[in-house]
Amino acid sequence: MIQLNPASCVRYYAKSSECNKCEVICPTEAIKVAESAVNIYQNECIECGACMGVCPTEALSLNNFDVTEFFFDFIKSDESVISCKSNFLCLAALSVDHLLSLALVKDFVLDIGHCATCDIKERCFVQIESNIAEANYVLSTISDKEIQAQKIGVTKEDQPNRREFFNIFTLKGAATLHKQVKEEIEALENPEIGLSSSHIQAIRQKNIPNKRKLLFTILKRMEKPAEYKYLENEYLSFTSDKVVDESCDNCSICYRVCPTQALSSDKRFSTIYFDPLLCVKCHLCHDVCEKGSIQITEYFDTKEFFEPEQKVLKKFKVIRCIDCGNPFTYFSGEQVCPRCKIEEEEAKSLWGIE
Ligand code: SF4
Ligand code: SF4
Repeated sequence: MIQLNPASCVRYYAKSSECNKCEVICPTEAIKVAESAVNIYQNECIECGACMGVCPTEALSLNNFDVTEFFFDFIKSDESVISCKSNFLCLAALSVDHLLSLALVKDFVLDIGHCATCDIKERCFVQIESNIAEANYVLSTISDKEIQAQKIGVTKEDQPNRREFFNIFTLKGAATLHKQVKEEIEALENPEIGLSSSHIQAIRQKNIPNKRKLLFTILKRMEKPAEYKYLENEYLSFTSDKVVDESCDNCSICYRVCPTQALSSDKRFSTIYFDPLLCVKCHLCHDVCEKGSIQITEYFDTKEFFEPEQKVLKKFKVIRCIDCGNPFTYFSGEQVCPRCKIEEEEAKSLWGIE
């Protein structure tokens, strides 16, 4: 059964969120995104997992298959093929984060031998091809790895059907596996692995999806490339780099809603910070910014993968309002905050004062 955690879904964060990636990918139309809600029709769901693969915040999960568990299980095993007919769901359930992490730790082949005849190929195979192309684009700039997709067509005479397979998978040493995965994830949250303070804070607050935690940890253990390259942001779906232009008035909505704290501020709200490696490209900050002040840059520096840093996107002068004493963003002229200014205007209009 596919489950939604509303606390992680950006649709529930803000009314203006336009995310509908899960609805668009679902091959059986079992997901319908409405204003501030995501409705799942379980009778229509075939548990392919494609929605999990595209959800930027891991708000969707299957109760009988966990991709993070699969990750650890697969890298520890002798298996080198990932196939929808033997050990995995539809390959569209593997996000770009997962593909990158897997490729950086193990050589493997994705079996696309069943895709051409698959009932859900129309939406899912397109996504699989796109994810592989994107992951290989990134890999070509940071390593000598490449993800191979081959028409192997893994079959077994006694191949259990999907549900039987899940039952076997779940029962097979499930307790041990869960314990191992828990330890692995806890290890990722350990500050000793050398993450910056913003990463540690976000990871501790558990607002970074597991798939990004995996990628963080694997990148941290990799040797840095001799030189850093630039990726075109247009071709990246899993992260981004941003700028904030002059039209920004520090309304604060973007860094208040950002689910991963990629966008953040200081206690005085005087600076907007941005951390590209924490961004999951959910697009929420763009959706909520009425002025359209946030833009994605043309290029993403691969240095961010190995030496992530919190950038200053914009600084503001914050002063105390001479009427109410509350801090506000000062641009020029009056030293009264916008709220007091509105109250003053309303009072004037009430008393007929020009
Ligand atoms: S893809 Fe994820 S974040 Fe986006 S609407 Fe669906 S569940 Fe919510
Ligand atoms: S910075 Fe914007 S796009 Fe990136 S995770 Fe935060 S809200 Fe989403």
